[in-house]
Amino acid sequence: MLLRPTTIAHRPLLTLALAASASLRLSSPQIATGSFALAAQQHNHNQQSPLQLSPSSPHIRNYSMGSNASTASNFPKGKSDTEWRAQLSPEQFRVLRQKGTEPGFTGKYDSHYPKKGVYTCAGCDSPLYTADLKFKSGCGWPAFFDAVPGAIDRHVDRTFGMKRTEITCKACGGHLGHVFEGEGFNNPTDERHCVNSISLNFSEDDKKA
Ligand SMILES: [Zn+2]
Repeated sequence: MLLRPTTIAHRPLLTLALAASASLRLSSPQIATGSFALAAQQHNHNQQSPLQLSPSSPHIRNYSMGSNASTASNFPKGKSDTEWRAQLSPEQFRVLRQKGTEPGFTGKYDSHYPKKGVYTCAGCDSPLYTADLKFKSGCGWPAFFDAVPGAIDRHVDRTFGMKRTEITCKACGGHLGHVFEGEGFNNPTDERHCVNSISLNFSEDDKKA
């Protein structure tokens, strides 16, 4: 009996894997966020590997094992995939709803350092990060050392043979990126929230936060 090479249900994962392998083949600066974590380690940014998160970390307590960005009813501002496709651009849908990653050093907020303002979720407009939480990491994606209190969720992400911490919008479940701890960046939390620009909008109006 011949085995079917794939099913429709498997295609998103296959597409994701192919996209990741294509991304990983590209040389810097188009490395993926995951490979940056390893690259950063090689360049001695890391005093503690992001792959060795301690269960005693205060951020671990509320972790869930993987997020389901497609479940509309689980979120105050959740929508069906059909509604998200109608609202978002194809690239926004790929990143926010299918956990994609934009190429490094290409996002509109990578080198964006306003004195004030707030970065909101591109899916649901919830305030996620304020301008004063952003720092220059050199990683190719917007980097923040903390988020607006209660704005994001963290999930263990074991894709691509790595253990990473995915961050999502608490209000709509949209994928934002990953957070890495203990890399030795000189900021108050020693965290780097590595966020896709395309998952964000920006407003100079601080009152939104
Ligand atoms: Zn959102």
